[in-house]
Amino acid sequence: MTMTETERALPPATPASPAVDRRPRSVAEALMRGGHCRCPACGTGALFERYLKVTPFCDHCGEALYHQRADDAPPYMVILVVGHIVVPLLVLVEEVFRPPVWGHLALWLPLTLVLSLVLLPPVKAMLVNLQWALRMHGFDPSSPEREAPPPGAQSPASVSRTAMP
Ligand SMILES: [Zn+2]
Repeated sequence: MTMTETERALPPATPASPAVDRRPRSVAEALMRGGHCRCPACGTGALFERYLKVTPFCDHCGEALYHQRADDAPPYMVILVVGHIVVPLLVLVEEVFRPPVWGHLALWLPLTLVLSLVLLPPVKAMLVNLQWALRMHGFDPSSPEREAPPPGAQSPASVSRTAMP
């Protein structure tokens, strides 16, 4: 018998539960840590296990990070930022130097690509950390959106328990 999504979902913790941490979270600090692609809770552990793959649990403090739902917000934000950098520069260069079309292509396409690839991780990390600081989605222990860890991901606590003889 296989487990359904409903059966795997964690029951929401009640506000009276002693394990529920209700301390306020600093949005500014979480954003700063996101800018360095670090865990919002401790600021030490890496937020990503690969380029844009958020680690399910912080390898330093064990914070559950799989609750994030950044979805397509990071590329949207990156397009907005990169567009506001590249387009004014393109217009300025066109007005001042009047380069040929191939000159524009040789300049702006690589710049747009590099800026986008460089900005995506910190922008995604800032959005994930913002969700954590605002207790959005599963970051709120009482949220009905709260889900069980993804298959294959084990919390540091369960790993240490299984490693014991
Ligand atoms: Zn951490």
